[in-house]
Amino acid sequence: MSQIELKNVTKAYYADRKKSLARVVLDNICLEIEEGEFVTLIGPSGCGKTTVLNLIAGFEAPTLGTVEVNGKEVKSPSPERGVIFQEYSLLPWMDVKSNIELALECQNVPVHERAGKISKALGIVRMSEFADSRPNILSGGMKQRVAIARLIAMDSEIFLMDEPFSALDEQTRKKLDEDIVEIWKNSGKTAVMVTHSIEEALTVSTRIIMFSDSPGRIIGEWRLPEEMNRDPYSEEFVKLKIEIMEWLPACPCTRKERRWIAIE
Ligand code: ADP
Ligand code: MG
Repeated sequence: MSQIELKNVTKAYYADRKKSLARVVLDNICLEIEEGEFVTLIGPSGCGKTTVLNLIAGFEAPTLGTVEVNGKEVKSPSPERGVIFQEYSLLPWMDVKSNIELALECQNVPVHERAGKISKALGIVRMSEFADSRPNILSGGMKQRVAIARLIAMDSEIFLMDEPFSALDEQTRKKLDEDIVEIWKNSGKTAVMVTHSIEEALTVSTRIIMFSDSPGRIIGEWRLPEEMNRDPYSEEFVKLKIEIMEWLPACPCTRKERRWIAIE
């Protein structure tokens, strides 16, 4: 049994008011992710990558098929599956430590345990000195560090990340990529990350999954050995980058395939 299993998952959204027709956005996805993997999902915009994360997170339910985590069907969100969104998801009226504490409160972590967890997590992401700051004084990169700290404090088993660093400048993104890999290595957690950057995928992951143009199907998979050279200028890295780029489906705007299904 894998830690995360998508079994023949199809997701369709209603497309008309009578709710009789639905547009298929994910088409029969089978995906197994083992504990401790760092999997990145890539593919054209609109192919359903965020939907895959939402299904694993339990924000959405599959139309057909099942999503299982640790052998149990996912029916709702759970702190074991923590999410980092592209949009900064901190409450602006609360300082950094209160933002994290709110998550711990929702998780029913006893009050006397919270401060310790918060300071340890902020230390790991090197944000201790901003514990009392409001999010408005933080840069985008710092806000995402706090979002990472929140998942560390919550002790989520699985980190689900939806283009978490794509709104950041290149240098900050690279630094955060290094940090997230280090945190993942030290923690033994499982990470599933959506990215539109092949370079980012090659830098962080143990496996890359490529989706087709909409409706999303899995069309490619690359397993990256631990000893792979992650230097973006190395021959090994550049060769793989070119291979993956050539595998990417054509620009979505050139294809107009749409599939519909009738659902009960
Ligand atoms: P990606 O993250 O790969 O860009 P998404 O998973 O966000 O793609 O979306 C896949 C498709 O599903 C898109 O066409 C999007 O418009 C559609 N979609 C996503 N969420 C909803 C929703 N709640 N209702 C209707 N359509 C949706
Ligand atoms: Mg998306």
